Amino acid sequence: MSQKFDVVVIGAGPGGYVAAIKAAQLGLSTACIEKYTDKEGKLALGGTCLNVGCIPSKALLDSSWKFHEAQVGFAIHGINHAGVTMDVPAMVGRKANIVKGLTSGVATLFKANGVTSLQGHGKLLAGKKVEITKPDGSVEIIEAENVILAPGSRPIDIPPAPVDQNVIVDSTGALEFQSVPKRLGVIGAGVIGLELGSVWSRLGSQVTVLEALDTFLLAADSAVSKEALKTLTKQGLDIKLGARVTGSKVNGEEVVVTYTDKNGEQTITFDKLIVAVGRRPVTTDLLAADSGVNLDERGFVHVDDHCATTVPGVFAIGDVVRGMMLAHKASEEGIMVVERIKGHKTQMNYDLIPSVIYTHPEIAWVGKNEQQLKAEGVEVNVGTFPFAASGRAMAANDTGGFVKVIADAKTDRVLGVHVIGPGAAELVQQGAIGMEFGTSAEDIGMMVFSHPTLSEALHEAALAVNGHAIHIANKKKR
Ligand code: FAD
Ligand code: AMP
Repeated sequence: MSQKFDVVVIGAGPGGYVAAIKAAQLGLSTACIEKYTDKEGKLALGGTCLNVGCIPSKALLDSSWKFHEAQVGFAIHGINHAGVTMDVPAMVGRKANIVKGLTSGVATLFKANGVTSLQGHGKLLAGKKVEITKPDGSVEIIEAENVILAPGSRPIDIPPAPVDQNVIVDSTGALEFQSVPKRLGVIGAGVIGLELGSVWSRLGSQVTVLEALDTFLLAADSAVSKEALKTLTKQGLDIKLGARVTGSKVNGEEVVVTYTDKNGEQTITFDKLIVAVGRRPVTTDLLAADSGVNLDERGFVHVDDHCATTVPGVFAIGDVVRGMMLAHKASEEGIMVVERIKGHKTQMNYDLIPSVIYTHPEIAWVGKNEQQLKAEGVEVNVGTFPFAASGRAMAANDTGGFVKVIADAKTDRVLGVHVIGPGAAELVQQGAIGMEFGTSAEDIGMMVFSHPTLSEALHEAALAVNGHAIHIANKKKR
């Protein structure tokens, strides 16, 4: 007889592994199926996020920032940076150790919580049965009261630039360069393109970003996008907007890229080219023809607001379903689904999922931006505070950017917090906590903030919404 579990999760990324741990914590017998293996051929849990996404990219961003700071930021503090060099294999090796620590940490958490870890490819059959094809090719079928599909996403390939993981790489290949490419091309000025472009630019690559759209960072508040374009360009990223890549030709160890812009067809030669044009859901061999689960027109697993598919007891979460492709969105969907399986009425607030771009300065936001609110006809008051006026930012010699708080003009309720600058991700999270509880700008303004902190910039921006800022001249008069 086949084994039966209360919950079977397919995929051990931040969606799947968090769902599995939560299910086991709630007393449900739980198995999680994962097929990804590391370079040593060992099962590696944690999905894109821990293996080739959020964590390794942040490891390289932090290393490269320290090197860049040594080059351009130390002298002002009176520190002599002569002789500072970069050992790229050591940097990439550090990243690999962090990944190893975290992925094996998930395996430990599975053990500690009693999650059964199964290695292989999972496929949903009819009747909530799940087929597992193991690494040796053998097949096992297990049964489940509930199945959670969490197979994630993978990079989109574009015919004009086929990835060979040598000269033309995707985001995974871009985390593995063993030396600094002299001329680096990046296709796509999205989050991943900007983060990876920044890593190699800081280490000395001459980076050109080719972006098909005319608008930079469309999803961000337009004041933030403008500041980001200015700052990243100043840092040395050559960001070409309205540049659509139409072809590429690899000649030995370089690639000639063709793109079109307003002046017609252009060519440019790179030593490495990163294709970062977005990600698409992974559903290959995930669903048997009679599983009953439907995909939508874009290839995502179709789910309702609670991540339920059309088959009772089958759910899908994370990058494989609609919405933002973010690790924290995947994890919270996992928690919501498991709690609902236990009979709770858990909901997720999709309006307050923070977005972060880990460039320097960091860019982060939560809620709506000014152009969206204007388009919706909502009257708003806006308060902005520049880090140039923050004592803490000055002490750190990190004064670029600002905090922008947007509040409803009638109710003062905060509708969006947008930050470009030091600590943006953490500041925006403070805004998100307040917004979850329906904070007004005045509420934030009345709170006591430690001095000196970067958070004071959020305090002052909230005060500025109603013309009450102290450390900057108020645009809005009281
Ligand atoms: P995944 O993490 O993709 O995990 C899915 C897992 O399922 C994989 O391990 C896969 O092997 C496995 N799988 C798939 N099909 C099967 C099957 N049939 N059987 C068994 N196993 C299967 N997000 C952030 O929030 N912050 C960031 O800073 C950030 N940075 C990123 C940087 C990069 C370079 C990249 C590429 C992504 C980044 N992301 C970031 C996005 C984030 O990694 C994803 O949103 C997140 O990993 C999605 O989680 P998931 O659980 O849905 O899927
Ligand atoms: P994201 O989806 O945020 O990761 O961003 C991917 C970016 O790649 C988008 O801004 C797209 O406009 C851009 N893009 C997609 N295809 C091309 C192409 N052929 N040439 C240049 N940019 C592209």
